[in-house]
Amino acid sequence: MALFSDLLFEARAVAQSLVNLSAGTHIRLGVTGLSRAGKTVFITALIEHLTKATSPSLRGRKNTLPVFRVHAEGRLISGALEPQPDDNVPRFAYEEHEEALNGEGGKAERRIWPQSTRRISEVRLRLQYQQKGGMNPGRRALTLDIVDYPGEWLLDLPLLEKSFAQWSQDSLAAASGAARAPLAAQWRGFCAQRDPSAKFSEDDARRAAELFTAYLRACRGEEFSFSSLPPGRFLMPGDLAGSPALTFSPLAIDPNRAYPPDSLAAMMERRYEAYKSHVVKPFFRDHFSRLDRQIVLVDALAALNAGPAAMRDLETALGDVLTAFRAGRSNIISTVFRPKIDRILFAATKADHLHHTSHDRLEAILRHLTAKAIERVKGVGAEVDVIALAAVRATREAKVNGHGGPALEAVIGTPLDGERIGDEVFDGKTEAAIFPGELPQDPKAVFRDAGRNAAPGEVDYRFVRFRPPMPIRAADGSALPPPHIRLDRAFQFLFGDKMT
Ligand code: GDP
Repeated sequence: MALFSDLLFEARAVAQSLVNLSAGTHIRLGVTGLSRAGKTVFITALIEHLTKATSPSLRGRKNTLPVFRVHAEGRLISGALEPQPDDNVPRFAYEEHEEALNGEGGKAERRIWPQSTRRISEVRLRLQYQQKGGMNPGRRALTLDIVDYPGEWLLDLPLLEKSFAQWSQDSLAAASGAARAPLAAQWRGFCAQRDPSAKFSEDDARRAAELFTAYLRACRGEEFSFSSLPPGRFLMPGDLAGSPALTFSPLAIDPNRAYPPDSLAAMMERRYEAYKSHVVKPFFRDHFSRLDRQIVLVDALAALNAGPAAMRDLETALGDVLTAFRAGRSNIISTVFRPKIDRILFAATKADHLHHTSHDRLEAILRHLTAKAIERVKGVGAEVDVIALAAVRATREAKVNGHGGPALEAVIGTPLDGERIGDEVFDGKTEAAIFPGELPQDPKAVFRDAGRNAAPGEVDYRFVRFRPPMPIRAADGSALPPPHIRLDRAFQFLFGDKMT
């Protein structure tokens, strides 16, 4: 039965690509990243720019996408949203997100950041452009299917190769590290008092799952900002919130022992295996394997703010993410799916929190974090690049008097209501000049230097969250695409090469 449905799926995919061939070039672009990395803001900004780039309201204004060649060369004709191909995937709520960013009802003072990604969604954009000279010049179309999904789900891939006993052992070992142990104490204490061979009780399973989820959430919180926290659906359940598929937890069991079928250990193992076959596999088979290109958004600043342990954890998580792109070599995973992604872009987001003198340093830090993992994907045939960007630039730059010392390079924006630096608490209405701290020249230093609780003499970063920028309106009242940093470089790498 499974084989038949797989064949049917393959046949549909082939038919779809034939349709696509006749309609012009087609790219399925995956947009992922851990929660709050900036996926929703990135996709909203992408659509804003590409649907408005050639609109009359921008005529006579400076081109804000100079590195996106098809546009810089004056060959982009139009960009428009179209009905998406998959009826069973929710649509990316672009219109709602655009209204949030620009202010509900056109009222700029109501502008807020859009609702973040919680599940998979997609949207189709069709770009018309003029082909460059050559044998057959003329009008062409690029269809871009953008698929937004939580990066937490990618971290589930390694589970496919792990037995319940192995996964339990790894999770318990991770939870005993110095930083995580206090957060895991309640969950580990509860499990330690349960006998894995005793008869299964639903109450015990539910309580263990609740405590395990609470531990993962605490790790993810702003203070710790850990990244490597599978299973992905425990933090990002999508449509599975409250479902029995998520009612299990790691358990200290003996891998060489056979537990009675009605025991706690056996039941937890059964649920873990069900999670793998009913949740993890279908995601990779039905969605991930169909992607052509991928951008992985990374909130490196949040990890920097939390300190070296968070940075090391982020490095592990990025390594796990890249495992997904490497899959398809000869291992168990390749029987489930074979990725065909040929370009991967890692992007450090929210670069507008920093002065431009630190943008290259942020890029260097992300390059350093992904270096080992990128080395491992070499030979798979995918091109990988790294960039620092801000999909929506909420700040401008200024030099601020350094109290007798040299002038400091600061960013000016409106910090969100409740954000604070030291004793100063912001009200969400007033602009402030913030000196975010300089990123180190040597990327390796981020594993050494402390974050916001830095001791004297160590680097102290001060990243506060800002409100979205005031929208700029054209003469006809329509909102112009928001300012950005290096978004055009991302466009060029992700699909610009197909628009020659
Ligand atoms: P998602 O969970 O990956 O969908 O994350 P979002 O796109 O919702 O972004 C989470 C939060 O990060 C937003 O609410 C903003 O506060 C912030 N953010 C995202 N992108 C940017 C950006 O380009 N600039 C700034 N200043 N903040 C951003």
